[in-house]
Amino acid sequence: MPVPRMYKTQAIVLSRFELGEADRVLTLLTPHDGKLKAIAKGVRRPNSRIGGSVEPFAELHLVLVHGRTFDVITQASVGEAWLRLRDRLESAATAWYLGELAERAVEERAAAYPIYALLRRAYQLLDDGMAPGRVARWFEYGLADALGMRPEVDRCVECDRILEETEAFRWVPALGGVLCGRHTGPPAEQVGVSLAALKLLKAYRRLDIEAIAALRLPTTVELEVEDALRRFIRYVLEREARSLAFLDEVRATSR
Ligand SMILES: [Zn+2]
Repeated sequence: MPVPRMYKTQAIVLSRFELGEADRVLTLLTPHDGKLKAIAKGVRRPNSRIGGSVEPFAELHLVLVHGRTFDVITQASVGEAWLRLRDRLESAATAWYLGELAERAVEERAAAYPIYALLRRAYQLLDDGMAPGRVARWFEYGLADALGMRPEVDRCVECDRILEETEAFRWVPALGGVLCGRHTGPPAEQVGVSLAALKLLKAYRRLDIEAIAALRLPTTVELEVEDALRRFIRYVLEREARSLAFLDEVRATSR
């Protein structure tokens, strides 16, 4: 059967760059076609029909035509705008960060429905006003899980023993989670992790995001878990996200 020239999809814009005088090339995350690059022609002209629609932090309804290099967007409308997400700089910076993680995690044209659903939900939660740090940790955990690399927080990654509250733990991303105090450990990257932080890591594994959002936690514990999960994601995706520097700058100036 010939491939139909035209198709419809929902999509979230992950990133974009400008091409020529008036065009823009978008990297899109879609529920069923994974990540793909598409061109929005003439989109930077003031009278463009689709110009205002193809923005990040929105779920779009698109009609595309298969093209040689890029597919071409012929129609676009906004499904979910998540406008409140954009009003707060930390939420917007977090949304960029999560979009970048999704972009790095998904291959072009590889089905990625769980990651699409995860990103969509994260943007909805940011739009609802949930603390951006909690949404980011929940997303990082979910992303690792979707990639088949869920962090181990109940058993020692080396000896498989259930972790006991009285021992010392270390967080070793290269081994997949928590190492108990019995091992001298490999030369891989590792940091100590407190019992309180371990409990929060377990909460991210067990509880839904609404329950996590309701937890009252000392800032030190949140920062410890932030550091641990960022290290983990950096290991899983094999590099640091570029947008983290901006996100951290935003947070530093808003404190
Ligand atoms: Zn062990």
